[in-house]
Amino acid sequence: MSTTEVDYSLILDILEDIFGDYKNHNDYRCQVSFDCPVCSHEIKGLDDGDGKGNLEINYKYGVYKCWVCSETHDTHGSIHKLIKKYGTPRQLKKYLLLKPEDDDTIGKRVYKKVRLPKEYIAFKDVSMGMKLLPTYKQAYNYIKSRNITDEMCAKFNIGYCASGQYENRIIIPSYDKDNDITYFVGRSYLSKTKRKYMNPEAQKEIIIFNENLIDWNKPIYLVEGAFDSIFLDNAIPMLGKFMSQKLFDELYENAKKITIVLDPDAWDDAEKLYHRINCGKLMGKVWIIKLEGNKDIADLKGDLTNYKEKQLD
Ligand SMILES: [Zn+2]
Repeated sequence: MSTTEVDYSLILDILEDIFGDYKNHNDYRCQVSFDCPVCSHEIKGLDDGDGKGNLEINYKYGVYKCWVCSETHDTHGSIHKLIKKYGTPRQLKKYLLLKPEDDDTIGKRVYKKVRLPKEYIAFKDVSMGMKLLPTYKQAYNYIKSRNITDEMCAKFNIGYCASGQYENRIIIPSYDKDNDITYFVGRSYLSKTKRKYMNPEAQKEIIIFNENLIDWNKPIYLVEGAFDSIFLDNAIPMLGKFMSQKLFDELYENAKKITIVLDPDAWDDAEKLYHRINCGKLMGKVWIIKLEGNKDIADLKGDLTNYKEKQLD
């Protein structure tokens, strides 16, 4: 590792000089996003950016990638390559003086694939012998207490870890269209825990949770968490109260009908979300359900028959 301190703000300055204002910036992860010049200019013929911010750059690791056109247009690689192509020779020279010394080797680690913890065991694969273990019983009792059935465990490949980094956690994996793992949620099944959720270092902003199970032609439920999504047919969790740009774009292009169901304490967020997505092509296709009291979707076992979906003014 390099021992010299790198002034990342100066690298960010160079990137802003070249690509304009950034869309998102996570300074903890040293990650910043801009409109992709290939998507905007070469593909869409725009003089300015397309407003999507798909070009993600990690200036600590010295790499970049466009989440849309990296495969088709080879839009990924080292920042060196990126600045060489889009910056001036002067900007490139400045960058090479500033950059971390070993960015080429560590760069490969940044966009590594998510893997399930090696201690993960799917409930459907638990042997008779293992069912006698207290750790299994504890995990299984927890999912029963959350109204999760064996069928749901099988459908979503829900499992648990009895040891390791995700010890004492229920794991709900997420898969993409090709059934490759993209993410997982690790929820503690202990009643006393310092950290309720532990999820992998990965960008949940760029995945659709369990995309492999989504039928875009059928009505889609938008919910907060992975634990909500397993109770409804064709539900996408936002993994929080706010929607990522990626999810918005996918819904905008593909959804025929969307119903928002957030937790009862998040009605204001739900209303805001409704108005944000009920626009353009989605106008009139968005519905909303207001849950009463303090019952969430899991408490209701996904039974929304007593709730009427409506559209807002
Ligand atoms: Zn692109």
